[in-house]
Amino acid sequence: MSANILDGRKLAAQLKDELREEVRQLQKQTGQVPRLVNILVGDKHDSCAYANSQKKLADKLGISCDLLRLPEKVSQADLIESIKKLNDDDEVHGIMIHRPIPNHIDYGEAANYLDANKDLEGINATNIGKMLLGETEMIPCTPASAMEHIKSTGINLAGKEAVIIGSSDIVGKPLGLLLLREMATVTVCNIATSKAGKLLDHIARAEILIVAVGKPLLVKGEWIKEGAIVIDVGINHTEKGMVGDVEFETAKEKASFITPVPGGVGPVTVVMLMRNGLQAFKHYLSSKKL
Ligand code: NAD
Repeated sequence: MSANILDGRKLAAQLKDELREEVRQLQKQTGQVPRLVNILVGDKHDSCAYANSQKKLADKLGISCDLLRLPEKVSQADLIESIKKLNDDDEVHGIMIHRPIPNHIDYGEAANYLDANKDLEGINATNIGKMLLGETEMIPCTPASAMEHIKSTGINLAGKEAVIIGSSDIVGKPLGLLLLREMATVTVCNIATSKAGKLLDHIARAEILIVAVGKPLLVKGEWIKEGAIVIDVGINHTEKGMVGDVEFETAKEKASFITPVPGGVGPVTVVMLMRNGLQAFKHYLSSKKL
């Protein structure tokens, strides 16, 4: 059996169409569009390129996205001051702090100053807490992308064995919460699971396997349960180009569905950022009773 390939570009295109239409409808009703601000500290080429590609996507969806450039040496206090101003600005609906960020900045502390209703990446402590309680739709973008891929298979997650490899605060842990919401039985593994020699046992029973580690081709096809849905979040730059955490060629012979790298989780992740932007805009509209 060869797996169905979960095409992230195709899924992203479909989700973009839906978002564009929703933005258009809201503009028709209110005369306003979502306005997002991306805070960029310093001028590292890769960061600028990524921020510009986010802006281009926003433009295509009818969303306004501005870059707020701060100098490389900006102090923590001045960054927080900028965040507070944006929080207080009614014309700004969503904010993100672009990463990577210079080492002297405490990213976590700064992110916690973001108004939870404007926190585009859904990563500050308030939003993570609200997500645990199912009280926010501002969901971290990579876990949201993984969930969109899983849902696109049409699977009912209730009672399914879902195994996540990687337990970071931005991917593995929030993804665990999202899967629990769907009543999956969730196991989250980390480096200690591997060191204890138990990783393969967990992988072998996974009906849904999500790998978010950052180690090229860590998971071999032969370890995977026949018919599993495999979501590869990993991005690894190697001499042979970009590869995921899963050995795609062997895994696709065992899985029923699998995401490729590149072209799987990545393209949908940035669309999830825009979806959060729309969510933030809707929150603003309802707070103003518009
Ligand atoms: P991280 O380094 O913060 O966390 C890695 C996790 O993997 C940790 O929990 C660690 O304990 C675990 N781990 C490490 N080695 C392991 C092993 N041998 N066995 C089991 N667990 C192991 O990484 P992150 O920020 O969560 O990112 C993970 C990967 O996802 C990276 O490749 C990153 O580039 C990628 N990523 C992709 C997207 C996307 O949109 N596709 C977004 C964010 C991150």
